[in-house]
Amino acid sequence: MGLWDSIKKVATKAKCGIGFHAGTFSTPDGKPKCHLEKTCPDCMELVIEKKHAYECDWKDAPFDYSSQLKCTRAQKCIHCGEVHKKEVHEEYRKLGVNSKCQSVLACTRCGHEKNGNYEHSFIRDGVVDGKIVMKCTNCGTTEKRNYA
Ligand SMILES: [Zn+2]
Ligand SMILES: [Zn+2]
Ligand SMILES: [Zn+2]
Ligand SMILES: [Zn+2]
Repeated sequence: MGLWDSIKKVATKAKCGIGFHAGTFSTPDGKPKCHLEKTCPDCMELVIEKKHAYECDWKDAPFDYSSQLKCTRAQKCIHCGEVHKKEVHEEYRKLGVNSKCQSVLACTRCGHEKNGNYEHSFIRDGVVDGKIVMKCTNCGTTEKRNYA
């Protein structure tokens, strides 16, 4: 075996090791269209990938009324008929601001909360090292800024 061959072999092995197998995906007979598989010619591993397809975008998908979580949506894969669920929230509305000046947002449908942007109320608090020090009057966070 030549030097180039052994280099190539090591490189191929490394590629397979991180999941980059060679070969081309196809759907075997009798399997739904969303089932893709290939056999890597380098390591002979069988790689299976599922590429389900749905009628709607997840944000427009029908709600799953059996779920405890109000924003859970469910739809079937058009190829294999498997039902999949995903939590997709409606628009978030601002509830207020927490003690760290971060805005608190809630889903308008289920009330799921998440944090949004920081909304400090900065005032000028002096100058340090030639930079303006700004201090938030709510939470006390300070920030240095260059002169404009
Ligand atoms: Zn491989
Ligand atoms: Zn499918
Ligand atoms: Zn929600
Ligand atoms: Zn603040």
